[in-house]
Amino acid sequence: MNPAISYNACTLCPRMCGVDRRRQTGYCKMSSALSIARATLHMWEEPCISGTAGSGTVFFSGCTLKCIFCQNYPLSHEGFGKEITVSRLSDIFLELQEQGAHNINLVTATHYMPSVLDALDQAKPRLSIPIVYNCGGYERVETIRALEGYIDIYLPDLKYYDNAIAQKYSSAGNYFSCASSAIKEMLRQTGGLTWDLGNPQLLSKGVIIRHMVLPGMKDDSIRLLHWIKETLPPHQYLLSLLSQYTPCFHSSAYPEINRRITSYEYNKVVDTALALGLDEGYLQKKSSAKEEYTPPFDLSGVEK
Ligand code: SF4
Repeated sequence: MNPAISYNACTLCPRMCGVDRRRQTGYCKMSSALSIARATLHMWEEPCISGTAGSGTVFFSGCTLKCIFCQNYPLSHEGFGKEITVSRLSDIFLELQEQGAHNINLVTATHYMPSVLDALDQAKPRLSIPIVYNCGGYERVETIRALEGYIDIYLPDLKYYDNAIAQKYSSAGNYFSCASSAIKEMLRQTGGLTWDLGNPQLLSKGVIIRHMVLPGMKDDSIRLLHWIKETLPPHQYLLSLLSQYTPCFHSSAYPEINRRITSYEYNKVVDTALALGLDEGYLQKKSSAKEEYTPPFDLSGVEK
């Protein structure tokens, strides 16, 4: 396996902790013991991912980013989940496929990539649906490069343009330089958008860039849109502009983001996207800020 994909002296993400995850934990607080919190069909991704049957979503415990407003706080910050073996993960992929999943959706899996790639290798002879890499965008190019041939659809967030904002809410002052480089590598690998021949509503290969508008930060969103327009090749990706930000109890320590976004804020960002010609992708109704986007983390689908 590619040396970038290893638990020894871990450099899987830009934190570059260098710890041996078989004995220690780094910033993500997760050892090399694979742990997941839920593996079920999920209807709340973008329509080209969820389709009519659902996306076969696997939620991994832990996170390399740990945003203070994370809706999946029990997983990302507290590491909720159950330890499983690589071969159980491989079986889970196949079970989701049998349930009719349009794809396998790996949610925040970066810190477990050595195990995930082993599980994909085991399942590969019987797995025929696309693999989605659903991540916070805080990725190393070296790690993304090692995923070539495994991942069909990249679904990265592009959260912040401003380093100070990224540092304040995600302790990741180098977020934009990492995420922007990673997205360019994702686009290089996928080479544009490919739609399912049998069901043209579904994406079978490509990149969907997600951006969630945060309260009081529409100007940062607008700067990101200008970067996208000026830098990324047109018609090679979809843009998903989310309005679903919901304050969680941890946001209360940050009064400026302890509210939902306003229609004015979201509409300003949408208007800018449209004015720039960034009209391939998805918008979200402002009324979509509902907790149902966050499924219950109850270990569904983890054990047979
Ligand atoms: S995956 Fe975890 S241990 Fe490895 S570099 Fe990232 S935060 Fe550190």
